[in-house]
Amino acid sequence: MRINLANIKKAKKLLNKSECVAIPTETVYGLAANAYSDRACKKIFKLKKRPKNNPLIVHYYNYKKLRKDCNFNANFLKLYKRFCPGPITFILDLKKSSKISKITTNKKNTLAVRFPKHPIARNLLKELKFPLAAPSANLSSKVSAVSSSDVKEDFGKRIKYVLEGGKPSIGIESTIIDLRNKPKILRLGGLDISIIQRELKKKIIVNNNPSKISVPGQLKLHYSPGIPIRLNVRKIKDEEAYLLIKKKKKIKPNYYFLSKKGDLREAAKNLYSTLRKIKKSKYKSIGVIKIPNTGLGKTINDRLIRASKF
Ligand code: AMP
Ligand code: MG
Repeated sequence: MRINLANIKKAKKLLNKSECVAIPTETVYGLAANAYSDRACKKIFKLKKRPKNNPLIVHYYNYKKLRKDCNFNANFLKLYKRFCPGPITFILDLKKSSKISKITTNKKNTLAVRFPKHPIARNLLKELKFPLAAPSANLSSKVSAVSSSDVKEDFGKRIKYVLEGGKPSIGIESTIIDLRNKPKILRLGGLDISIIQRELKKKIIVNNNPSKISVPGQLKLHYSPGIPIRLNVRKIKDEEAYLLIKKKKKIKPNYYFLSKKGDLREAAKNLYSTLRKIKKSKYKSIGVIKIPNTGLGKTINDRLIRASKF
């Protein structure tokens, strides 16, 4: 993808003035602002209508820039070397001396950090004097944005600037791993947990459905396209769209495919744009075929289960 430096310059100027800017990342578009500024971070919560108790992920260029805000540990360095920049978010202990806004963390003494891979996000982060707090650029509890027009659809003129960055290569949120004690997955995401497990050489606990919610990605209703979703559907109803994992021989106008041949990465990448497309086509509901619960299929199922609690 070609990088338009004039656009990046415009985004930087706004971010330096504590404004919010939507930025492309390889997972989904983010609604970014200066993570050291209370004023800037408050704007993110207001725009998204996000509950104040839902802390934000903070994005860094590299681990050197993170040093003044968080304490590292051996597991972090191991996973950083292998997977960053990329679709993984780490929960780490915040340093007492850190300038991260308490609005960002909801006064927690931990921080969610990520190192995005998208060249435009990296270009911004390299030059700015602060890291970027950036949740997904969608209204709270709705489907994430995977194009600049998705962002504009949700926020219209209320957002000062959307930095164009094409279609995200992963298309689904990052995998969140808590690395403070025993590694624990808090949200399934774009990085397959079996690969993380292999790197750490041990089984990791997956805690994305706890009795006590610690991450709103664990909330029951989330990622909702705004119409009911039924799962594991073999026979669809009238006026229902049928969401399929791969192309069928006999195609009907209400059939939507997440991939050509059932590739789960491709399916994850297309999930949100397909849900948005179906919603716009005025179907009353979505029937989803059974999706294999392996690799990124687990992440797709996680999102669809939450979106089905309509
Ligand atoms: P999103 O709003 O889509 O960017 O998702 C960010 C996720 O990271 C949310 O589910 C947050 O609750 C979670 N998160 C952010 N900071 C922390 C933290 N310190 N501890 C645990 N989860 C966090
Ligand atoms: Mg989100």
